Amino acid sequence: MTDHDLVIRNGLVIDPASQFAAPFSIGVKDGRIATLTSQPIEGRDEIDADGLVVAPGFVDVHTHVDGNVPAGYELIKMGVTSAIAGNCGNFMWFEDADLMRQRLHEQKDYDVRNFNRLDKDWSDLLDQVDQDGYPVHLGLLVGSATLRLKAGADDPNGPASDQQIAEMCRLAARQIEAGAFGVSFGVMYTPGMTRDELLALFRVAARYQGIAAVHPRHGGPGLPGIVPGALVGHQEVIDVAREAGAKLQLSHIAHQIAFQSRPYDDLTQRGIRQVDAARADGVDVMADCMPLAQNVLEVGLPLTAMLYELLPLVEEQAGRSIDNLIFVKEGPHQGKGLTPELYRQLKEEAPMTALVLRAMREDLVIRTLLADWCFVGSDIGDKFYPAQARVIGNYVREQGAFTLMQALQKCTSVPAARFGLKRKGRIAVGCDADFTIFDQRTISGHLPFGAPKSETAGIEHVVVGGVPVMRCGQMLDALPGRALRHKPW
Ligand SMILES: [Zn+2]
Repeated sequence: MTDHDLVIRNGLVIDPASQFAAPFSIGVKDGRIATLTSQPIEGRDEIDADGLVVAPGFVDVHTHVDGNVPAGYELIKMGVTSAIAGNCGNFMWFEDADLMRQRLHEQKDYDVRNFNRLDKDWSDLLDQVDQDGYPVHLGLLVGSATLRLKAGADDPNGPASDQQIAEMCRLAARQIEAGAFGVSFGVMYTPGMTRDELLALFRVAARYQGIAAVHPRHGGPGLPGIVPGALVGHQEVIDVAREAGAKLQLSHIAHQIAFQSRPYDDLTQRGIRQVDAARADGVDVMADCMPLAQNVLEVGLPLTAMLYELLPLVEEQAGRSIDNLIFVKEGPHQGKGLTPELYRQLKEEAPMTALVLRAMREDLVIRTLLADWCFVGSDIGDKFYPAQARVIGNYVREQGAFTLMQALQKCTSVPAARFGLKRKGRIAVGCDADFTIFDQRTISGHLPFGAPKSETAGIEHVVVGGVPVMRCGQMLDALPGRALRHKPW
């Protein structure tokens, strides 16, 4: 009987949510899992997964791919089959990654006004994804910086008026009704956001059981320095989430707390305890985490300016001079430490130059990701980071810090459940036929210094909605991904 569109045979099938792991074959029909069996089955198309793990396709809720197709194929290389875009308050809808990067490079100042695309409505974008297809399934958050611009609050450092906040809330509600998963915030990029503005938008997200995803304030008025500033920024939105009854998602949390610095050598512990305490107090807060101990930032970022403004404090906290802490990642000065002189020069000449901040510690990243409220998110967009493959290759196989089951939960079922994607992140009859099929002996992810892109190995086949997009490590010319829409009720 060959009534399956696709059969994946002989793989070690793992369903992380139920902790099921056994050599099984999977039969796919009409984009869903129709059969799970230890008996031989046949299909019109077949993938031999002998010796490989068949996992649910990875679900990545922290991306900036925002609809550009090359970045969508980067997600496939990483084993991701469902992604949420529009994070950190910004919404950059460029179909072409090179065009996006070029536009960003043309800008002298790193300003939210240069990042946000306002010319399309989110419901049109979701319809466009359905019509044109995309490498992975794609859902959207409403960027609060974009909302600010639409409402006429175009100074990122200034507060929005009551009228503008009301307009932002109206627009946010409309986009969530059209299928957006909630509102994203980059409070660091729009430091003029007040508590009232945050609270009003969190309340809109809460009304639709949506997510409030936050890249917090790192510093700013009244915040004591760089590193403890992250804890203050986290507490600010934890308190707002408590008051609004909203689902808070702290974005790339390790990149706020996985540092060792003087005199806060227990910063990671404090950051973890802060979230534990909020949850014990009834706040619905979780976090995503990039599995990487590097900060990649640009010369023109406000955060970079702050690091140089507070130079004595930063050097004292890090116990190192700044040119031993921040390095140029690309261009003619690649590899050099960023002295204050070189910083001033690049700020003038090439503000989009990527830098690497070497202050994080990988053991502290792992400790953060081990928290049961923390899961994997890649942050990929115009830059590419290794994510899920790095957790399985480096943290599971090489370091033994996680079990494979634990790591897969943090790449599949946990993020899917957080965003209410009921048929994603699972291998069970009736679930969507999204699979990542990898060799657990070779899977790995790296971000080599000076390389523009991360490198992923060991992922053999990726199936999206029952259609192979990567086969035997080769990318196929397929766009089976469709729009993901938030369904609150
Ligand atoms: Zn961010």
